[in-house]
Amino acid sequence: MANETILVVEDEAQIRKFLRISLEAHHYTVHETRLGAEGLALCATAQPHLVILDLGLPDLDGQQFISRLREWSNVPIIVLSVRADETQKVAALDAGANDYVTKPFGISELMARIRVVLRDTRQSTATQSLFESQGLQVDLSQRKVSVDGNPIHLTKKEYELLRLLIAQPGQVLTHRQILGEVWGPAQQEETHYLRVLVGQLRNKLGDDPANPRFVITVQGVGYRLAIPLALNDQSQP
Ligand code: CA
Repeated sequence: MANETILVVEDEAQIRKFLRISLEAHHYTVHETRLGAEGLALCATAQPHLVILDLGLPDLDGQQFISRLREWSNVPIIVLSVRADETQKVAALDAGANDYVTKPFGISELMARIRVVLRDTRQSTATQSLFESQGLQVDLSQRKVSVDGNPIHLTKKEYELLRLLIAQPGQVLTHRQILGEVWGPAQQEETHYLRVLVGQLRNKLGDDPANPRFVITVQGVGYRLAIPLALNDQSQP
C-alpha cells in the first residue's frame, strides 16, 4: 500500500541508509533516528504505521523502547536483532514487538515481514469471522475447523492454539505468549505442554512437522502460521 509511514530506529548509519533507500523504493514514507528517545518522540509526532527497531541502541535498550511505546501505542514493531541472540529476540517479542528479522537480513525478507504486519494491522480493525488459507478453514463464530473441506474436531486447547496462530497469520508467537494465553500466566515456562499440544494439533490437521503446511516451528522462539506468498503479496501496490 503506497505512502504508509515507517519509522526506522537504528544507530548504524549504513543500515539506516540502506533501509531508507529500500523502503522508499517500495513507496513507503520514511522517518529515521539513531536514538531511542527521539524514536519514541517521533512515534507521537510522525504517527508511523510501523516501527523498525534495532535492539542495540546507544541510549535505550530495545526492550525498554518497546515497553515504553506499548504504554500508549499499538503501532506494530519489527525488531532487527543480531543472529543467534534468541534470548534478546524472545524478550523483545514478549515485550510487545510483532515480529523480527535477523541481521544480516535480505530486503525481500524484511519487505515480506512488513507486508504481513501491516496487512494484519489493517485487517484487525475489521471483524472477520471466517479465516481461510491453503485449505485450512476456521469459522470463528461457530468454532468449526476444516482442512480441504473435511471437518476437524479439536479439543478446547487445540482450538485455542489454532485461534492464536490465525489471529496473527505469518507472525511469530513466543512460547511464553502461547502458554500464557492457552494455560494462563502461571504456566508460561511449561514449554513441554506446548510441544505436546502443537504435536496434537499438527496431527489432527494432517500437518507434517518436517514439511509444514500450517504450523511452522521457529526454533528456540515459538511458532507461526504458514501463509502462502500470494497472500503476502496482496498488499503490494
Ligand atoms: Ca545497533
